[in-house]
Amino acid sequence: MPFTANRQFKKAPRMFVAARDMHYTTSDGRQVLDGTAGLWCVNAGHARPKIVEAIARQAGELDYAPAFQMGHPKAFELANRLVDLAPDGLDHVLFTNSGSESVETALKVALAYHRVKGEGSRTRLIGRERAYHGVNFGGISVGGIVTNRKMFGTLLTGVDHMPHTHNLAENAFSRGLPEHGADLADELERIVTLHDASTIAAVIVEPVAGSTGVLIPPPGYLKRLREITRKHGILLIFDEVITGYGRLGTPFGADYFGVTPDIMVTAKGLTNGVIPMGAVMVSAEIHDTFMQGPEHLIEFFHGYTYSGNPVASAAALATLDTYKEEGLLTRGAALAKTWEDALHSLKGLPHVIDIRNIGLVGAIELEPIAGSPTKRAFSAFLKAYEQGLLVRTTGDIIALSPPLIISESQIDEIVSTLSGILKTLE
Ligand code: PMP
Repeated sequence: MPFTANRQFKKAPRMFVAARDMHYTTSDGRQVLDGTAGLWCVNAGHARPKIVEAIARQAGELDYAPAFQMGHPKAFELANRLVDLAPDGLDHVLFTNSGSESVETALKVALAYHRVKGEGSRTRLIGRERAYHGVNFGGISVGGIVTNRKMFGTLLTGVDHMPHTHNLAENAFSRGLPEHGADLADELERIVTLHDASTIAAVIVEPVAGSTGVLIPPPGYLKRLREITRKHGILLIFDEVITGYGRLGTPFGADYFGVTPDIMVTAKGLTNGVIPMGAVMVSAEIHDTFMQGPEHLIEFFHGYTYSGNPVASAAALATLDTYKEEGLLTRGAALAKTWEDALHSLKGLPHVIDIRNIGLVGAIELEPIAGSPTKRAFSAFLKAYEQGLLVRTTGDIIALSPPLIISESQIDEIVSTLSGILKTLE
């Protein structure tokens, strides 16, 4: 099983057999409140009828169409809807099947763009420490999670990592954006000076790092990255696999921070997690550069058998309809204060060394047990599951990202379950 303690799981499997709205049903018939929207993806809650119906209808009408040299209306309709939804300046879409594939696609677009423009010397990629960009080779190369990299050898060469902005000593228990660390964006200038801008293709960052424990940037940090990348002709890529589709209380993280990248990577909430699909959005300038080559050639030598799959496209269209009809893309903003107050009420409980929140995302960081890092949070995860709550842990951090349909009483339920657990943790 992926990213799973397989031996532990085999001894005591945790199995879900059904899901509806905010709850999973376990194989032993218990209801579990979904505190993580599955894996940060089921933003509209589970088994939403409109999405279920759209998938069934599409599978009966046009189940599959070749992705190469052929088109079908749903993929174009979806691309147009995404362009309308995305910040101005992101005007074209490439479809993939996952966040990892979206990351690879974005990195390849960046490299190819410079080459098509006649700047083929721009091959270096810059990521950050503690970044998660999926599990494929490009993604783990620009990613900064040591455990995800160290089993796999050399990886991509020509990659640099900026520091992350998470600074516990100064920023612990910040509410919303932390105060300190915007100046860390200037590390990018240092890397540019070291290698010369003419060698650098792109910088990739998550607006808020999710999988490594909800690392929220200070005000001004992303704006500064935007200024530096623009000044040096370097493309800025936002990996919005988690921050996209309403998670921060805005359609995308780019909207929350008022910074538009050249390329935006999405997946997860695009289809409410129901059908695998990702979308990479690019600027008109990138698109038009590719279109200026000789006409008989394929413009971009990349793509997947299931790019823009009709059933996935139908699921995404129904998901976007559901988000719109129920106001879910901004619901995180309306609930953010309630969410923040609820989470920060856990301050002072045993082992809690930080609490972080933004939109409908949260993290509770625990003091690691000496010599057994990750054990304390994992034990909280197991207890929460027994007590009917799904949380996610990464290191000794409990991460929360409930479906955007969550009620205030369900927020209270999450916090009171966690409060009970934290009081009893070893
Ligand atoms: N990028 C980010 C920021 C993510 O959070 C994730 C998944 N958690 C991915 C990429 C990879 O997505 P997937 O698992 O769909 O390949």
